[in-house]
Amino acid sequence: MAEQRKKVLLAAPRGYCAGVDRAVIAVEKALELHGAPVYVRKEIVHNKFVVETLAARGAIFVSDTDEVPEGARIVFSAHGVSPAVVAAAAARSLLTIDATCPLVTKVHKEATRFAAEDYDILLIGHHGHEEVEGTHGEAPDHIQVVNSPDDVDQVTVRDPEKLIWISQTTLSVDETMETVRRLRERFPSLQDPPSDDICYATQNRQVAVKKLAPDCDVVITVGSANSSNSVRLVEVALDAGARASYRVDTAGEVDPTWFDGAHTVGVTSGASVPEILVRDVLELLAGLGFDDVEEVRTATEDLMFSLPKELRADLKAAGTPVESPRRGPRPELTLDPI
Ligand code: SF4
Repeated sequence: MAEQRKKVLLAAPRGYCAGVDRAVIAVEKALELHGAPVYVRKEIVHNKFVVETLAARGAIFVSDTDEVPEGARIVFSAHGVSPAVVAAAAARSLLTIDATCPLVTKVHKEATRFAAEDYDILLIGHHGHEEVEGTHGEAPDHIQVVNSPDDVDQVTVRDPEKLIWISQTTLSVDETMETVRRLRERFPSLQDPPSDDICYATQNRQVAVKKLAPDCDVVITVGSANSSNSVRLVEVALDAGARASYRVDTAGEVDPTWFDGAHTVGVTSGASVPEILVRDVLELLAGLGFDDVEEVRTATEDLMFSLPKELRADLKAAGTPVESPRRGPRPELTLDPI
């Protein structure tokens, strides 16, 4: 009997989203325009390789604004910041570039709008995640965080008739819907947000991995441990039928024994992952005999965001053309390897 050919199913879309593209380019442009150092509050995006590469070019990553010299330039990460952080930066006369993803800003606006209307707001998201801290900070008196379906029984509200849920942008769609279902069992009048808070990139990457996972013995997700959408892809792959599912930062973390007896390997990557890291994994797999790569595409993305307004103003003042960020999922490198 002929031996079954070893195969890779490569998810598309995968990797960089429009918000990550914009945030990374914001730091690159700030360095080009103003020179090093440029301070960045928290990781600009949750990817170790990206952060290390930008640090090598002169970005200094700090935990908070009080670590930045008065009057220096600071970039806020794609995950967004609370009004308290904006105020703290202003108190130190910092020159800010706000690289918050516009889709996170949209959730902030929902929070402030419903808080102004005195709703109780249930923010479905992970405690301690920077995006959740930023959104919660918009209206701490009105917002409570619901971490998972198991948290639902602990929720208490002032008026169950004036209640709305919103969410972190990078959650599992299925788990979030389960949390909402359980919330609605307790609070039948719970209102939905005006539009999806889980962003297009998170949803598209989950749909792609769901499509290929049932045919895979193993699914590899490239992404960092603190990348919420990457970690969700690992879970979604397993739930969708992959026999095993692993997350790696780089090809160096792949264990060849994962593929013992495997015929089909799925590969995807989180929204903060440069394509070079995926290529490294594909090369390693090819070396193990998985050299037949088939793309499984479930959507095409062409969304792009303009650069942060502070940066556009700086570029204009310097007489530099104000370019938009490069388009969403790109086959080329975003960052050269260090
Ligand atoms: Fe924006 Fe979604 Fe990308 Fe986060 S994952 S930066 S919300 S597009």
